[in-house]
Formats: sequence, C-alpha cells, structure tokens
Amino acid sequence: MSKHIRIEKSKQLKEKPDWNALGFGRNFTDHMFVMDYTEGKGWHDPRIIPYAPLSLDPATMVLHYGQAIFEGLKAYKAMDGRILLFRPGSNMERINVSNQRMCIPQIDTDFAVEAVKTLVKLEEEWIPKAEGTSLYIRPFIISTDPFLGVRPSLTYKFIIILCPVGAYYPEGLNPVKIYVENKYVRAVKGGVGFSKTPCNYAASLKAQMEANEKGYTQVLWLDGIERKYIEEVGTSNVFFKIGDEVITPALEGTILKGITRDSAIRLLKSWGINVIERRISIDEVFKAHYSGKLAEAFATGTAAVISPIGELNRNGNIITINDFEIGGLSSRLYETITGIQSGQLEDVMNWTVQI
Ligand SMILES: *Cc1c(COP(=O)(O)O)cnc(C)c1O
Repeated sequence: MSKHIRIEKSKQLKEKPDWNALGFGRNFTDHMFVMDYTEGKGWHDPRIIPYAPLSLDPATMVLHYGQAIFEGLKAYKAMDGRILLFRPGSNMERINVSNQRMCIPQIDTDFAVEAVKTLVKLEEEWIPKAEGTSLYIRPFIISTDPFLGVRPSLTYKFIIILCPVGAYYPEGLNPVKIYVENKYVRAVKGGVGFSKTPCNYAASLKAQMEANEKGYTQVLWLDGIERKYIEEVGTSNVFFKIGDEVITPALEGTILKGITRDSAIRLLKSWGINVIERRISIDEVFKAHYSGKLAEAFATGTAAVISPIGELNRNGNIITINDFEIGGLSSRLYETITGIQSGQLEDVMNWTVQI
C-alpha cells in the first residue's frame, strides 16, 4: 500500500456554519479522504481531495446489495488548543472486524489513523470549540464494482468525511423513554449484528419509527430467537445497575462491541464497581424494578456518550427508573468520559491521541 497521502486543496472554501446551530450530520467540511481498492493491487492512491458528490455507475454493487461498513468517532479541541481523538485505533480495528464479516478486504489500521489525523489537521478550523461540541469523523467503505451479480465486489472505496456537531444535550444530560421492542428484531447469532454495517441500520428503522409514533425515543432490542434477553438500545449498548452490580449484555455476536461500552466498563472497574458482562433478560430487569433493586439504566455510544434511561415500556407495562432522574453512575461516567475526550480531565487511561 502506498503510504503517501496526496493532498489536493479545495480552491473555494465553504462558509463556516452557524456554530450555535450545528445539530448532527448536516454540515460537512471542505475536504474528504479517499482511497481505492482493486483486487490484485490492494489499497492504493490515498488522497485528500475537495469534498464533493461521488459519481457512481447505477449498477454499483453497494447500491443494490449493501456490501459496506462504517465507523463513527470524534475529534475535540481542548481548551489549550490541542486536537484530541478518542481511541481512534479501536475504531479502525473494528473496521477490520466488520470488513471480515462483510467480505471487504482488511485495511492497515495504523495508516487509517494517520489518514484521520492528516484530514482533521487540515480541517482544524472546522472543529467547534464550545462545551460538548466536536468534529464527528465518519470513515466508511463501499463496494464499487458496476455489476449486478451477487458476490463480493473486487473494488472498493474507503472514504472519510467530517462534520462539526453540536452538543448532544444542550440543556445537560437528559433521561430518555425507551420502548421494549416485541415485534421486530435486530440481529441473530450467525448474522451481522456485531458488524457496523448499514444494513443493520436499514433493518432497524421501522421499529424506531413505530416507537417514535408512540412517544418513545428509541427501542430496546431483545434477542432474535426467544425475545427474552436484552441486546442493545437503538444503536447504543446498554447497562443496568441492579443492587451493587452493573450488568451489561455479553458480546455473543449479535451486538456491537461499543468503544464507549468498553470505556464505561473499564472506568466502572477502576472505581471498584462490580461490572458483569452476561445475559440479562427483560424479566430480570422488570423484577429488579418491582423489588426496588433496579437503581439505574443507561445507554452508551459515541454520539450521546451516555443516555440515562428514565422509562421502559414493555407491552404497556411502564416502569420509571430512578424517578426519571439522572443516576449517579450515568453522570459520573458522562463527566469522566467527556472530560477525558475534551482534555479537561487527566487521561489516566491513555485513551486520547493528540494530533
Ligand atoms: C456504533 C454502535 C454502537 C456504539 O458504539 P460506540 O463505539 O460506543 O460508538 C452500539 N451499537 C450499534 C449497533 C452501533 O452501530
């Protein structure tokens, strides 16, 4: 693989967005990273070029059969001006886990981190500075053969785009209402649930839409076979504090190995809290609530970091968790992780990478 990233600067820079109304995923920076793969030649021609629409043959495989993967991570501007990435190597390793399942060729993870660093450095002025804001980084790979036969593509594009994003909780951390999904399922063992691939998202939209119509933010997914064991919340991992223990579903091939999940587990353990990765049923959570032992529930993911869960609705049985208040662990995890990410707290875990 050629390691030299060619840079072609945009001749016309865009106007910067309104920093106070960024939202999520709407504004994109001036440049993007692109690298091609061709069978026999490998990954080649890494380049940073002006951000622009892609021109694709209508027969391009990804448009028909969805052979693709993606990632999401963030860059932060610290108060002292440093640019910090949060565990970028873990995202790139996860790309290869996803690639392996989706028959996409492996990438060089160190080089992919270098590509992110080079692009983010070039787009430094696009990193918002206000509390809670960041530059969202979206690497993705698409299959590009113009061919309608069903087989893995022989050509791919690895692309990285960037967008400044606003604070997820402009008014501070907020508990959310979650609908326990009893009709649709997200993944089954042997499927692609552990892979960050667009088809998992396409498959989840219907459930999310129906939950939204009922007034719920997201769904809590149960296992695809017995509809009994808890998997994830929307596109986040989930934790329950029951008595003195914090329980999160084990990684058994159907859920995503979240980097925020892993960070939360490590921090909780470092605080002397008993964290257990195991199967946990929805019955167990409801029973724990009725016996007064369910102290707290929260979801973890890059976008929101921590989402406290204030309510669960299972077939009309509604429980309110922690009086719809933000739990102690939720807020401590949120403050600690965002503090490390933005360089305000000491990075005792060695998670940040400075550009
Ligand atoms: C991305 C994602 C997560 C969260 O992973 P993080 O690395 O913490 O951002 C959880 N579940 C699904 C299905 C995801 O796609």
